[in-house]
Amino acid sequence: MCETGCGKLAEIADHYIPAAIYIEMRRGKNLIPENAFFDMGNLQSLCAGCHRLKTIEDDKHIANGGPWVELGRPAKKWSF
Ligand SMILES: [Zn+2]
Repeated sequence: MCETGCGKLAEIADHYIPAAIYIEMRRGKNLIPENAFFDMGNLQSLCAGCHRLKTIEDDKHIANGGPWVELGRPAKKWSF
C-alpha cells in the first residue's frame, strides 16, 4: 500500500530524500554510492499519484536548497 495512507496500491519505490542528494549526505559516512542508493531507510512505497505530487515538492525543495530531513524510521528487518 502507498505509505502516505491514501489507500491506493503502491507502484513506485521512492527515494524519500532524492537519491543524488542522499548519496551526497552519506558520502562522509564511508557508504559507497550504490549502498546509499539502495538504503532501505531512504526508500518508501508510493502510488503514482502521490509520487507525482512528491516529485513536485522535491523540485521546490531542491530549488530552495533544502533542508533535508531523513525519514527517521528504523531500517526494515527481514524475517527470512
Ligand atoms: Zn498514494
